Amino acid sequence: MQPFTGSFTQQEPIADDAIEAAVAVLRSGRLHRYNTVGTELGPVAELEKAYAAYQGSKYCLACTSGGYAMATGLRALGVGAGDTVLTNGFTLAPVPGAIAAVGADAVLVEITPDLVLDLDDLEAKITATAPKVLLLSNMRGHLCDMDALMAVLDRHGVPLIEDCAHTMGASWNGTRSGSFGTAGCFSTQTYKHMNSGEGGLLTSDDPEFMARAIMLSGSYMLYDRHGAAPPPEMFTDIRLDTPNMSGRMDNLRASILLTQLGGLETNIDRWNARHDLVADRLRGVAGVYVPNRPEQERYVGSSFQFLMPDAGAEAVQQVVAGARTLGVELKWFGADSPVGFTSNHQSWRFVAPQDLPRTDAVLAGLLDMRIPLTFSLDDCGHVADIIVHVVRNALQKGAA
Ligand SMILES: *Cc1c(COP(=O)(O)O)cnc(C)c1O
Repeated sequence: MQPFTGSFTQQEPIADDAIEAAVAVLRSGRLHRYNTVGTELGPVAELEKAYAAYQGSKYCLACTSGGYAMATGLRALGVGAGDTVLTNGFTLAPVPGAIAAVGADAVLVEITPDLVLDLDDLEAKITATAPKVLLLSNMRGHLCDMDALMAVLDRHGVPLIEDCAHTMGASWNGTRSGSFGTAGCFSTQTYKHMNSGEGGLLTSDDPEFMARAIMLSGSYMLYDRHGAAPPPEMFTDIRLDTPNMSGRMDNLRASILLTQLGGLETNIDRWNARHDLVADRLRGVAGVYVPNRPEQERYVGSSFQFLMPDAGAEAVQQVVAGARTLGVELKWFGADSPVGFTSNHQSWRFVAPQDLPRTDAVLAGLLDMRIPLTFSLDDCGHVADIIVHVVRNALQKGAA
């Protein structure tokens, strides 16, 4: 088997039109979002307007990161020290990190083998802990049954904030991920669906929530210079009481993102063609489970996951090592200590330790791979061949 030589961390270059927009901002010297001339909105406000329209939400705030968007969302909902926030037992460290940032206690909810929130465990934990909010992480782009989820949350009066770092552009039954609860949080960090190095977007239809979020982001008293903000009267009662926790986006990043937004839908189709090619090859392989994708879900296949549910740690490690030898980078979430990034709840020592036997059983057999758009369809076919080859090898050895 020929080794694969592509890089799993190499994104596409920033396109020429985005580079030109960025150079124009640099030439102007006006990089700060409120440094505008006359009646011009400026790139950050233009981005807020354009992203709100794309998302189909009334309001949008551009900020420094996805993690900042989540912490700001929690603060704007009034979550603070000693409050309980529910979130997924399987997500990336910035999600429990945002809960820690506001001094709240994370209670982790089990996930299913389809990598989504276990709604029975959710309901049990709502009853047991009376949480202030669910910070739902649509981890690796897998959406739970959003209709069933909203029924549970409505029944108990629990508000929802969605972490959409992996679901920018995704939808459930035609409603965009991020538009189900009070707010959606998006990241424009290099490895997500738009690339400004770092950056975040917070969307909502709730005017009071968004007024607080805008004040929190460090808008001084310039909230009338936003692109998708509630009317100035929404700020009257809160503007002097809401602390400034500076986390504004700048015009340079916004100019890059504005031009990228126009290509997002095309890129989603490109990701999904690559993702589906790999998923289709793996689906029939004995000993492999590829998470189910319900027909209501429009996903963004910027990464691919599969499980080896009964293989055992040794076989899974053989798959990771065998794939690495052939140039394919698979991440295993069952490892004892985190490698590269931390998604196993046991490695979040800033969160009280919790018992999640079902999540642990899923993670023990879960493998994950990035799909950058720099891979061609042929590359993806090659990668899929390598994975099938190393999986079969590992399982045969185990059986022998
Ligand atoms: C990347 C990521 C975030 C946070 O985004 P940053 O912009 O890096 O702060 C949140 N949730 C998940 C699941 C992520 O992968």
